[in-house]
Amino acid sequence: MKDLLDLSLDELRSVLASWGEPPFRVQQVWEWVWKHLATDFRQMTSLPTRLRARLADAFTVAVPGVAARQADDQGTEKVLLRLADGQAVEAVLIREGDRRTVCISTQVGCPVGCAFCATGAMGYRRDLTAGEIAAQVLHFARALQPRGERVTHVVVMGMGEPLLNYDATLKAIRNLNDGQGFALGARRFTVSTIGVVPGIHRLAGEGLQVNLAISLHAPDDALRRELVPLGKRWSIREVLAAGDHYARATGRRVSYEYVLLAGVNDRLDQARALAALLRGKLAHVNLIPFNPAPGLPFQRPDPRSVDAFRQELVLRGVDATVRRSRGVEIQAGCGQLRGQGSRAVSLRSPSCLSEGEQDGRWGAPAANADRGEGERSVEPNG
Ligand code: SAH
Ligand code: SF4
Repeated sequence: MKDLLDLSLDELRSVLASWGEPPFRVQQVWEWVWKHLATDFRQMTSLPTRLRARLADAFTVAVPGVAARQADDQGTEKVLLRLADGQAVEAVLIREGDRRTVCISTQVGCPVGCAFCATGAMGYRRDLTAGEIAAQVLHFARALQPRGERVTHVVVMGMGEPLLNYDATLKAIRNLNDGQGFALGARRFTVSTIGVVPGIHRLAGEGLQVNLAISLHAPDDALRRELVPLGKRWSIREVLAAGDHYARATGRRVSYEYVLLAGVNDRLDQARALAALLRGKLAHVNLIPFNPAPGLPFQRPDPRSVDAFRQELVLRGVDATVRRSRGVEIQAGCGQLRGQGSRAVSLRSPSCLSEGEQDGRWGAPAANADRGEGERSVEPNG
């Protein structure tokens, strides 16, 4: 059975046209699914019974099951969502003031295999469909609905590399962006990429003003190649040129993400080299202190050296913040999914859970994240 969430508005139009339905039905069905968040065709009361029956014969509106859930007392909620084939991905809701940010996954695992990333360590299983990507947002939208709240921002920073699942990711964003349905403005989305250069150029040509975050992680190619295997394919120069193209084409400031690994890429001379690369660009640096996970051979730098790194960038005219979140760390919530080491001992990786293990410790409160000067949370841009 097909997932209705996998269809674009145009595709829905052709299905209904081929069934001989009048054109106004297209918008009605679209609104039921994307605006009213209906999951059952029987709820779609403005449609004639025979159309509801026909839709139900041909389609489902896939609702992933919640295999595990963890919430902290400050409104961050992480779920492990079970997909139709038994695989599972993580999605996170972060409440901050009026913001309701959802962090979503685009692949089960990731083929890139960055040295510091737990998702990379689990290998690549498969791409998500457009429907599965959007369903993560709709999951939280439905949960917020009874309180009259809405999802206000979406960050594509969960499991997987979105630009290696380009078409499905873009289709999900366009469907969520469509003004007749979910209607989340393009500027409310942030796509994080490890630096898939052709994908960045292509995204620049989409005519969509989504925010772009590029994961740089090193100020020179030799080190970057060690940390990020795709650094062998595209040099920092090519990645930055793609970022510049994106900023020019969209007028949006590009965020550069930089995971700080103690003794590896957190020296002050490396901060100076990074500043030299980025100075004068429409850019911003998000520093992410490494989140330890079992099997990952790195250490988290102490808060003082994190701040010294940040100040070195700021002194040289490069806007930089340290990304942390309250309660559950965002990176523990998305993009970095295996065991959380000593800092948030209650978490277990979804990759473990997706093997069929339901860890009872899910649901326990996470360790408090430390906070400091100049810190902010997940959204790189307004
Ligand atoms: N594949 C994309 C998006 C998902 S990863 C990308 O790499 O950009 C989202 C973010 O989490 C990236 O910036 C990534 O570097 C970061 N991340 C991965 N593992 C981490 C870890 N162990 N500690 C801190 N951040 C991590
Ligand atoms: Fe994949 Fe991003 Fe993790 Fe690298 S950091 S392995 S690209 S999810």
